[in-house]
Amino acid sequence: MPADRFRYRVTCGWLRDLASEPAPHDPWPCIRWDDRLLADQLRFLDVQAEMDVTYNVVWGLFIDRSWPVPFANIIDAEREARLHTFVAAAHERGLKILHGTGIYSWGFDDIIRAHPEVARGHAHSMCPFSPQAWEWQRRVLDFLMDPRWGLDGISMQSADQGRCSCDQCRARSAAEHHADLLVRCAEYVRAGRPDWTIGQASWGLALDDPADFEHVRRISRVVDYMVEVRERSATAGRRADIARGLACAYGSVGGVFVEPPQHYERLRWFVPCGLRSARALRRLWDDGGRAVEYFYRPFANPVEEVSWRTGAAIPGAPDTSPEEALSRAVAAVYGVSGVAQEQLTAWFARGEDAYFTRSDFIPGNGPLSLEPLIWSENPAAAGPPIYLRDRMTAAQRAGYASDLRQLRADLAMIALPRREQADRTIAAINGTLRDLAALDAP
Ligand SMILES: [Zn+2]
Repeated sequence: MPADRFRYRVTCGWLRDLASEPAPHDPWPCIRWDDRLLADQLRFLDVQAEMDVTYNVVWGLFIDRSWPVPFANIIDAEREARLHTFVAAAHERGLKILHGTGIYSWGFDDIIRAHPEVARGHAHSMCPFSPQAWEWQRRVLDFLMDPRWGLDGISMQSADQGRCSCDQCRARSAAEHHADLLVRCAEYVRAGRPDWTIGQASWGLALDDPADFEHVRRISRVVDYMVEVRERSATAGRRADIARGLACAYGSVGGVFVEPPQHYERLRWFVPCGLRSARALRRLWDDGGRAVEYFYRPFANPVEEVSWRTGAAIPGAPDTSPEEALSRAVAAVYGVSGVAQEQLTAWFARGEDAYFTRSDFIPGNGPLSLEPLIWSENPAAAGPPIYLRDRMTAAQRAGYASDLRQLRADLAMIALPRREQADRTIAAINGTLRDLAALDAP
């Protein structure tokens, strides 16, 4: 029987990417887990279950940048209690929790400093030819596979911080290098937890080079799904071939990935993008894609919840039109029906076009960062709004500000039952207008 929907409907993010409170004074990634965040997570799980998005990949359940040396006392009792509450809440809703897991890279900085023999010159990536490196990697996997945590699998990443460049490693292509690591770890996990789901996301790794495709295929034989983060194969017109050539489900990050700005107040930006995500996911489906790692949004900003719901409607029902998905999303978030629902749907489409027809952002070509992920001038402070500063000219910003003022006026003409959501939407537009005014102040 042919599939009628995506097989791996996955949402993912760092622990606080959905938080209603920013972490303005912490370097990225902040993984502080308090009661407020737990409440945000439970609300997110409710919406996730409603939208039939069945997997949730979390980065930062245990660590931010590094596993500790020695490998002990990873989390305290309070954090473990929150973890159990979160995992149990997911299971009650029929959802599975996967752990975002660095493979030989991400999570090993302290280990590399304390045990330099695991790496050969790279500060963040261990060398595959070091037997001690494998011991540390195995320790991490054993820890995660412990039934005590209740996890249902992992999503692996090996390439986002580059790779070892010793003579032995340099003799191999990047795809061969990463395939060796990913296959080694996936086989180990599969043997230890045959019940688990194993995903893989290709941050930093290209999948579309025909010369390397055999290595990409090797990865696909040991994982359940693979995500091509930059949709280069689609741009090149080769995506359907690649999806067909893999032994696992092929996926993307869903077209528009707005990188959640850790330091920003939640009502500082107004970037509706659900239609573009939904369209990208429909194209992915047409090319044979059957997986997505669709990123978290902070629902404290109602515009973000509308965008998330609009894209999230597609993996479970790919026949849904993007406009229908948007219409249902505005009804759910603003409580509108009838004429007001039609008006608000059209209003959101205009709001989306106001940014994306002016900005140089191309869906499917990496993240849309609102602030720098890590601002070099001060990693523990809010960075500049680069999505406005660097992706538009001053003239485009002026036109954008004018559209935003018109949108603000027009929103007041639509009868919205949930007044608080309307007020928050106006606040998000005002936040954007303030950033625009500051950028182009005379
Ligand atoms: Zn090496």
